[in-house]
Amino acid sequence: MSENLDWIDFDNQHVWHPYSAVGSDLPVFPVVSADGVRLRLADGRELIDGMSSWWCAIHGYNHPELKRAIQQQLDTMPHVMFGGLTHQPAVALAEKLIEITPGPLQTVFFADSGSVAVEVAMKMAIQYWRDKALPEKQRFLTIRRGYHGDTFGAMSVCDPDTGMHTLFSGILPQQLFVDAPRCYFGHPCKGDGAKALRKKLRKHHSHIAAVILEPIVQGAGGMRFYSSEYLKEVRSLCDQYGVLLILDEIATGFGRTGKLFACEHAKIAADIMCVGKSLTGGTMSLAATLTTEEVSKTISQGDPGLFMHGPTFMANPLACSAALASLNLLLDSPWQERIKHIETGLQQGLAPCRELPQVNEVRVLGAIGVVEMKKPVDMNQVQPCFVDAGVWVRPFGKLVYLMPPYIIDQNDLNTLTSAVFKVVEKCPI
Ligand SMILES: *Cc1c(COP(=O)(O)O)cnc(C)c1O
Repeated sequence: MSENLDWIDFDNQHVWHPYSAVGSDLPVFPVVSADGVRLRLADGRELIDGMSSWWCAIHGYNHPELKRAIQQQLDTMPHVMFGGLTHQPAVALAEKLIEITPGPLQTVFFADSGSVAVEVAMKMAIQYWRDKALPEKQRFLTIRRGYHGDTFGAMSVCDPDTGMHTLFSGILPQQLFVDAPRCYFGHPCKGDGAKALRKKLRKHHSHIAAVILEPIVQGAGGMRFYSSEYLKEVRSLCDQYGVLLILDEIATGFGRTGKLFACEHAKIAADIMCVGKSLTGGTMSLAATLTTEEVSKTISQGDPGLFMHGPTFMANPLACSAALASLNLLLDSPWQERIKHIETGLQQGLAPCRELPQVNEVRVLGAIGVVEMKKPVDMNQVQPCFVDAGVWVRPFGKLVYLMPPYIIDQNDLNTLTSAVFKVVEKCPI
């Protein structure tokens, strides 16, 4: 660090980062600007971003159209309460989301983060069954290795072992779990792949409000890609046993897996669906929970006839304008080709990692590339190695993974994948 960067010291002593300790030895890198696929550090170094700021920055950084949308909205009305008032950015965005999401999703609840969108989805499911005169349907069934956010309801359906269950046991609602699907994406789910799920549903359906899961890609719980046949089976089991299906598309939504929404791989739709992360192209915090007319009408005509949730910053106009601009940008772009191109680049570029003895598995789906190590990586060592290699890659546990912005070109993608190979090969892991 060349300049006088007292604020870094202040950060270290006073500011929490995601899953962090205050005063830790782990390096935190000061970033001063970002443009396209590059992050610029305070010391002048530029890093090619392999993370899209955790799935979000699909168009890259500093995109003129996203900035224009936010600036225009800023000039007229950056925020207004949503209780009793409405505005055009929210309505236009809702219309767009209803248009592009699969199946019968007809109403939109805007939330400010993915975790809250999941809480909202869970509350919707509970209120729905209450208004259907089945108030005992209050529990949730999910698959292990999932990740749905950090708030209490969301935590309760995260993986019970790698998640935060032990830390908060006694406070978390007790949910039902089955093992994560064993059938990989692109493979059939031989025999009865969803047998465990069927068994649990048969036994407990009268107490289950919904099955909740991440379609096709289990993200922060392990970056695993599972068979679309399994997902298809989940949909039909939910119908058979009278249980709602909540699909958490917060990570997978808006093209990342090669389809606009991951559930399209299985040609199914949700009763309740959560989106977030890349919704605004990585510019503002916004998420949404969509549901069917059946669910929204039942709640609205039930008792008390209201859906019991309402964030202060609900449908923030800046965020809604950014999201609308981001969706238009995406849909007007050759995004399928771009994802295909990234998929091929990741497959070719990460393939050599398979030969390394430290590596357990390499897998790629759409614009997601994962190198799973045999042991957890030492972040203290690995993070600076990636920065020295000119890329921003942030592994967790045994997973070194890439999910670059969709606009990345072949050269930058090559730099990313070769950096992963070099670091995995050379760095003490
Ligand atoms: C990130 C994520 C969440 C939580 O979203 P936040 O905006 O971090 O609260 C929920 N579900 C999935 C699948 C996610 O990837």
